[in-house]
Amino acid sequence: MIDTHAHLQDEMIKDYKKTITDANDAGVSKIVCASSNLENSKRAVDIANEIACVYATVGIHPEDANSYNSDSIMQLKQLAKNKKVVAIGEIGLDYYHEFASRDLQKEVFIKQIELANDLKLPVVLHTRDASGDMIEILRKYKNKLSCGVCIHCFNMSLEILKEILNYGFYISIGGIVTFSNAKNVIEIVKNCDINRLMLETDTPYLSPVPLRGTINEPKNVVFSAKRIAEILNISLNEIDEITTKNANRFFNFNR
Ligand SMILES: [Zn+2]
Repeated sequence: MIDTHAHLQDEMIKDYKKTITDANDAGVSKIVCASSNLENSKRAVDIANEIACVYATVGIHPEDANSYNSDSIMQLKQLAKNKKVVAIGEIGLDYYHEFASRDLQKEVFIKQIELANDLKLPVVLHTRDASGDMIEILRKYKNKLSCGVCIHCFNMSLEILKEILNYGFYISIGGIVTFSNAKNVIEIVKNCDINRLMLETDTPYLSPVPLRGTINEPKNVVFSAKRIAEILNISLNEIDEITTKNANRFFNFNR
């Protein structure tokens, strides 16, 4: 199994080496370490350089948009030269927290879409309470997103799901699918093309049932995988095989 979205560099993860070994022991073969600002992008690249099964994304999350300056794109570009950087992310819009103004979030997001296009890398998207502006930007910039888009923790409408699948985009699903109030995410799983679905944990956040309230880890990706297998009425093996194939295709790990 591949955990396509884990913040291994988060301070809540006390011993990342043990966390990674535990994941390997539980059958997780690769982990994509997601970033949210320049500092933890550097940290993600360091961990990926150190540990073979870890890959990194680099990028500035909308919650960190205030940290963006005229130098940021150059620095991200420099980091992305590393072979183990497999995507620009997580980038996008967050109108739930709105730590930065909407205009600044959009500017920082679009600058990084253009960066991904320059570097021929896919992007990993974060979006919360911003569906309208998000889909508008994706429509407008879809030609600059031809190396791939994965919307992580996808929880938008089925109409938007249909539209982004038409664009060739992917989604990743994590612990939320195990929650008892996960009606929308369950419908998303049922309506998604299985060849565009990937697994994630969003470590250290969003621990699945029955581990809610604990610090999440990549080894827990199996709980979401089991729940998705149950919803789709197929075997866990099949989910493992298909989502692994999808992640290998999307991230092109051996670039
Ligand atoms: Zn994340």
